[in-house]
Amino acid sequence: MRELLPEEKPIKMSIRPIANSMNYKNNMKKILVIEDEEIVRANILEILESGSFEAIGAKNGLQGVQFAHQQVPDLIVCDITMPELDGYGVLKLLRQNPLTLTIPFIFLTARADKNEIREGMELGADDYLTKPFRRKELLGAISARLEKDAAYRERYAIALEQYKTELNYSLHYDELTKLPTQLLLREKFQELYRETPANQTLAIMLVGLDRFEQIAEALGHAGRDNLIQEVVCRLIGSVSFNDTMARLNTNQFAIILAPGEEERDSQEVAATILDTLNQPFGLDRHEIPVIASIGIATAPHDGDDLDHLIAHAQTALSHARKLGSNQYQFYTPDIQGVSLEKLTLEASLRHALERCEFLVYYQPQVELLEGRIVGAEALVRWQHPERGLVAPGEFIPLAEESGLIAPIGEWVLREACQQVKRWQANGLPAVSISVNLSFRQFNQPDLIRRLVHILKETSLDAAYLELELTESVLVQNVEAAKRRLKAIKAQGVKISLDDFGTGYSSLKYLQQFPFDTLKIDRCFVRNINSDTKNAALTTAIISMARGLHLNVVAEGVETQEELTFLCQQRCNTMQGYLFSRPVSADEFEEMLRRGKTLSIPKSDRFGNSFFF
Ligand code: C2E
Ligand code: MG
Ligand code: MG
Repeated sequence: MRELLPEEKPIKMSIRPIANSMNYKNNMKKILVIEDEEIVRANILEILESGSFEAIGAKNGLQGVQFAHQQVPDLIVCDITMPELDGYGVLKLLRQNPLTLTIPFIFLTARADKNEIREGMELGADDYLTKPFRRKELLGAISARLEKDAAYRERYAIALEQYKTELNYSLHYDELTKLPTQLLLREKFQELYRETPANQTLAIMLVGLDRFEQIAEALGHAGRDNLIQEVVCRLIGSVSFNDTMARLNTNQFAIILAPGEEERDSQEVAATILDTLNQPFGLDRHEIPVIASIGIATAPHDGDDLDHLIAHAQTALSHARKLGSNQYQFYTPDIQGVSLEKLTLEASLRHALERCEFLVYYQPQVELLEGRIVGAEALVRWQHPERGLVAPGEFIPLAEESGLIAPIGEWVLREACQQVKRWQANGLPAVSISVNLSFRQFNQPDLIRRLVHILKETSLDAAYLELELTESVLVQNVEAAKRRLKAIKAQGVKISLDDFGTGYSSLKYLQQFPFDTLKIDRCFVRNINSDTKNAALTTAIISMARGLHLNVVAEGVETQEELTFLCQQRCNTMQGYLFSRPVSADEFEEMLRRGKTLSIPKSDRFGNSFFF
């Protein structure tokens, strides 16, 4: 098939011209230049200004799209190769929105690569210029384009107000991302479904950002909006021009894959989306991890109206989350059952607190000089009326998702403080208590007030309490976390960094936060005596922590060999099945009463004595 010349391309029925008619009044045409190389950009802006144009520069694709929506220029000159959102992505985004749909668009390419040019033209670019170009070439191309555009505009001019009422813009387009809303998606779906041949299917994909509430809370309003825009850029880059994308709510997007592209199946698209979103987002000098899950439903198998399809895709999305996030799931009728089970579990979790079904187990922490118990970690358990004792791994994620973790965590904290106070009152050897603090609890505005209240209520000396936090809780908003930790420390409560090694494991973070203890995750401790990589890492972590004057607790110590290695490395404290599993309060009390100690080989103790 012969390729169409740009001027032969069908004119898209659009309404943009109106916005430009305002620029026409003062007769100075507004040109937006999107170019990431500063020198090139400055050069083009200078040429345009000398050619009596009003020129605006955007330093990257995202900024370019924003300026295009805000300023509705008469023409856009855009570089193809840019990091993050490239020229094709910019054009795809602009062509999704009627305000910017028909703004003449000229691509800049570094070399006259036929494929690049063809791709640009297929996306709807009007012309291209190969770098380097002369002043005359640039101004010539712009003038030619503007003339054609003026003729077009005369034929299709409609007043802006009229357009606004006709399309009811705000109802159809999301303010922040300029993507279609569910309302427009519905119209598009009906159109697409009508056009889908009987032997083909239409896939609807729901992309949900997981734990977005927590991220948003940490980033604040503006940060959250920036993140959403960046996410949209990546999503746009992962789908094809003919696909339809909409924003359904704060953290959910729907994509209807264009029918008839058999070679491109929905699994491939879903995997690409997950991969691209998986790369951390650089915002405000922090790396923000975003995890997504995807649910897919297809018409006509799973339904033939949008509401049913979205509901089914939603079920598949929830299932993907349940399976651990960062994956996609197709809707099948049997996953409905699993979701129901989850809903039932959530409902019974809601009642579990009132029904006093939670228990706190205590796992001893043992110092490695004499082998004495010096502390305990409080670990919650759920005594489910039918399922028996449920481990936290099974309900904590659900509790976090539903927000129930805050009251549950607070109950654990109160219960554990009370218990330690009771042991002290009974004359047992003093131990400190470590309590896990979830992201939601840590971010409660009145966390300190609640903490002080519990200490007062239980009359436990704050020096015996340590709160365990994971890195992921802290890195979302470093400055806020630092303030919070300082406030906790001001109460005399200690802070422990839990599961070190599973998150960012960055020394930079360690130095910024006022930790007292570092807990090495059990994945490093496992087979430490034979696994050379784990051995090297743990040795490095221990010596680094020692340099920062932190107490080091090795988690998950299961064998005598692991213990020997840790002693030799002068680790301070251990916690693991080798000494004891988490046990009930009564069993723990019994251990304290008996003065149970860990037997440490003499030679290993000797190593420690240099340190303590
Ligand atoms: P965690 O804070 O890292 O707790 C240590 C986990 O490692 C516990 O699992 C403990 O039983 C297990 N463990 C200890 N020693 C060994 C060992 O030698 N070998 C092995 N294989 N495992 C060992 P548990 O009790 O199942 O708790 C899992 C996680 O649930 C905890 O990890 C913590 O993140 C969370 N969690 C537990 N209780 C609470 C709570 O009250 N609040 C919050 N927010 N999270 C909690
Ligand atoms: Mg812990
Ligand atoms: Mg841990």
